[in-house]
Amino acid sequence: MATRIDGKKLSAELLTSVAQNAAEFQREFGLRPGLAVVLVGEDPASQVYVRNKTARATESGLNSTEYRLPTETTQAALNDLIEELNSDPEVHGILVQLPLPEHLDEEQVIAAISPAKDVDGFHPENVGALSVGKDALVPCTPQGCMIMLQQTLGNLSGKHAVVVGRSNIVGKPMASLLLQANCTVTIVHSRTPEPEKLARQADILVAAVGIPEMIGSEWVKPGATVIDVGINVIERDGKRKLVGDVDYAAVEPIAHAVTPVPGGVGPMTIACLIKNTLLAARAQQ
Ligand code: NDP
Repeated sequence: MATRIDGKKLSAELLTSVAQNAAEFQREFGLRPGLAVVLVGEDPASQVYVRNKTARATESGLNSTEYRLPTETTQAALNDLIEELNSDPEVHGILVQLPLPEHLDEEQVIAAISPAKDVDGFHPENVGALSVGKDALVPCTPQGCMIMLQQTLGNLSGKHAVVVGRSNIVGKPMASLLLQANCTVTIVHSRTPEPEKLARQADILVAAVGIPEMIGSEWVKPGATVIDVGINVIERDGKRKLVGDVDYAAVEPIAHAVTPVPGGVGPMTIACLIKNTLLAARAQQ
């Protein structure tokens, strides 16, 4: 049976060391690292994510401020707020929770955030730096996945990694980080013929698709390490349930290690956001 990779425990350890670092920062510079979290609209899942992010940030000794804007907020008003936060010396990290309401242009919003304060790592400057292997603020979810992989497998060099999904926020940066760690990387997406065949060659399989329990046993090589990024809400036996993109029960008997949902990648994402805020704060001071 596969080992369950405990994202809750790992994230708690990471947050403890970040909290120590935040306390040192406050002693050195006389202020706490500042995180501004912006939420536009009423999306229930986004509200939960934002609440969790600000709670963990506060617990870790950051000065975390939430900006909740109505759905009908204009692009100009959102840009003005970002500009204000960009020039506020007490704000070191800015996160605009995605997705935004349809009338707002996500690309424009991401580009408006100062790259030095872009703790999500989505700004084109940070994306470019990551892809050429320079220091950058690295997107939180793939960063968290890398920590879990390194904890589970140690050195990743020479391993074949298959990433299912090619989004800008998960799949692509995940592939860049695996490549930097000297893996051989294959990216599988919706136009890939017979994706299971490719996935079955993987020592490391990362699922970031957004389809509940799509990755069954036929996708997994015996002994592979499986990272499940998916967060999907489904109805089962009349109850709402959170499941990943991986069918955990089917994969557990075959894999070497698997992340659960919930309690896997999710908590690591938040811990890496707090870590990025501290890195950004130190760089700015
Ligand atoms: P996107 O919808 O942006 O991307 C999904 C990707 O999956 C696309 O590249 C798509 O391919 C690919 N895909 C869709 N269907 C298939 C298929 N049948 N076979 C192979 N590939 C397929 O999603 P995100 O990357 O934003 O998120 C993925 C999942 O991760 C979601 O469940 C999301 O909720 C979760 N998530 C979790 C986070 C966490 O903290 N744990 C953080 C961020 C996301 P194509 O490009 O060809 O359309």
